[in-house]
Amino acid sequence: MNILLIGSGGREHALAYALAKSPLCTRLFTAPGNPGTAEHGENRPDLPVSDHAAVRAFCEAEAVGLVVVGPEAPLVAGLVDDLTAAGIRAFGPTRAAAQLEGSKGFTKDLCAAYAIPTAAFARFSALEPALEYLRETGAPIVVKADGLAAGKGVTVAETLEQAEGAVRALLAEPGAEIVIEECLVGEEASFFALCDGTRAIPVGTAQDHKRVFDGDRGPNTGGMGAYSPASIVTPEIERAVMEGIIAPTLRGMRERGMPFTGILYAGLMLTADGPKLIEYNTRFGDPEAQVLMPRLASDLVPALLSACDGDLSGVALEFDPHRAALTVVMAAAGYPGTVVRGSEIRGVAEAAASDATFVFQAGTRAEGGRLLADGGRVLAVTALGDSVMEAQARAYAAITRIDWPEGFCRRDIGRRAVAREVAGEGI
Ligand code: AMP
Repeated sequence: MNILLIGSGGREHALAYALAKSPLCTRLFTAPGNPGTAEHGENRPDLPVSDHAAVRAFCEAEAVGLVVVGPEAPLVAGLVDDLTAAGIRAFGPTRAAAQLEGSKGFTKDLCAAYAIPTAAFARFSALEPALEYLRETGAPIVVKADGLAAGKGVTVAETLEQAEGAVRALLAEPGAEIVIEECLVGEEASFFALCDGTRAIPVGTAQDHKRVFDGDRGPNTGGMGAYSPASIVTPEIERAVMEGIIAPTLRGMRERGMPFTGILYAGLMLTADGPKLIEYNTRFGDPEAQVLMPRLASDLVPALLSACDGDLSGVALEFDPHRAALTVVMAAAGYPGTVVRGSEIRGVAEAAASDATFVFQAGTRAEGGRLLADGGRVLAVTALGDSVMEAQARAYAAITRIDWPEGFCRRDIGRRAVAREVAGEGI
């Protein structure tokens, strides 16, 4: 079968690696792709992914049997709807179902209707009622913009003044809607489930590091590193998430006439009262895919096909439970602010030389046989190990082989998990 993967980031490089090694995959196309995805198939930067008719025509011309959508934007734009209507199997949620990521208010209303544990909340579009609510509830409190904000638009306010400032700033935009919610206390973890509209199977856990600098300091980013599994998600917590969060979400989406098919990525807060949903994403995370895919022991392709066909019964995705994976993002100096593009990166092949290490490429471009930085987050250097500690040591050893003076990375990815291992809690 020929497969078309949509996207160009580190997540898509990791997905390309997993898709291309399937015995079912004849040709893999990635649109637009990056130099990393080109190692696993053919890049098609000429295919305009926002032109759904062009994508459909490409699939028909190249006998594509499965389209896998990596990023959220094409999902929200309805690419899966249009391809499915044309009889092409496309993995990912419809535009309506992608609201679980695209609209915090939509998700919060679903949580309320189906008793899904989440932070207490209220929605506002007018300033005065919002300020009054803040004064009633007090701080700490969380203020969020509705709609896709790419991790921005969230203020965890320690004081009432900070919260009021955030509310005023967000509601200054005409037509803006906001969510004000209870500040949850606990440790965060990411939980992934593969869904077929009715059923879900777990596809692993991860924890990421969002702040740009060591010690979780500095501004938020798309993610500076991650590891999997998140041992803090015990089998009991996994059961609570599957039964108390994922299952009612699928039921609610079905009952709203927008069944959810694809990857449901739950951002969780593990509170003293059990796991609570912070937010949903409707696709694999980046850099979480870079730690999930190397641990995957099963063939990904039949599982995605079964999900598209609405029947995951009998499907199990096996992850190597005894191997951890850890990824360290190498970013261009200045990230998450303005970065300079075009510096040369050497040593990627050397860094990825062992079976246990992978260098997933994100913001790179190839030019005349050289690999150049071409974005903020540039590489995700990933390693497997029998423990997070071993994976961490291997990932940082691999980074020493990368010669890229203009790049930087955090030095403490996995710190908490390693401390737990040292304390004897295992992976
Ligand atoms: P979101 O975009 O909703 O994932 O929020 C971004 C980050 O803000 C999360 O990863 C949390 O660290 C934090 N956050 C969001 N909502 C809450 C909450 N209700 N309580 C505490 N922290 C939160």
